Amino acid sequence: MNIEQNLKDIKSTIPESVTLVAVSKTKPISDLMEAYNAGQRVFGENKIQEMVEKYEEMPKDIKWHMIGHVQRNKVKYMAEFVNLIHGVDSFKLLKEINKQAKKHDKIINCLLQIKIAEEDSKFGMSADDATSLLKSEKISELKNIKIVGVMGMATFTDNMNQVEKEFKFLKHTFTELKSLQPELKTISMGMSGDYQLAIDCGSTMIRVGSSIFGERN
Ligand SMILES: *Cc1c(COP(=O)(O)O)cnc(C)c1O
Repeated sequence: MNIEQNLKDIKSTIPESVTLVAVSKTKPISDLMEAYNAGQRVFGENKIQEMVEKYEEMPKDIKWHMIGHVQRNKVKYMAEFVNLIHGVDSFKLLKEINKQAKKHDKIINCLLQIKIAEEDSKFGMSADDATSLLKSEKISELKNIKIVGVMGMATFTDNMNQVEKEFKFLKHTFTELKSLQPELKTISMGMSGDYQLAIDCGSTMIRVGSSIFGERN
């Protein structure tokens, strides 16, 4: 795997306005450092413990994104340094993130994970729940979190028509939510197999792992 070349290849095919999150879960720090030395600064992990270990070992100008499902009792371990939490799908979780952010006197950026896939194994809230949440009084009381956009995971399938339908639904949901909260700016969608399609459907942030670092075990 030539990580530097892979990054170059991907960067050359995506608009500059799209943020590339290098998904480095399960990969050793030496691989991450290759990406870092090639200029990559945004990394995504899906386990808090693993992200903390890598954060401690690596340069401090990295932006760490938590892209996986977040357990409330573990928010405290990443609150100090996490740059963006993609998988926020309940008010309870937001409240805990707010509490931990406050301890560090910071504001943590969050994305609302919207359920766009048909399979029910995927986490996320419905578009209606997200709308109600943004409208609610209780959310304005959380001063140490900021919702900056949405995140979604399409169905795991080769049927690109299905995936396209789900991406378009997320874009539509984003537009609706943005009418309530104009500062929203991020649509996190697209992975190694479908990031081109995701960008065509309006993605502003892609999460790419295996196309950069190779297949995971
Ligand atoms: C692992 C993972 C990715 C990256 O998947 P690849 O197919 O390796 O690009 C993206 N998003 C989430 C939430 C993931 O867990």
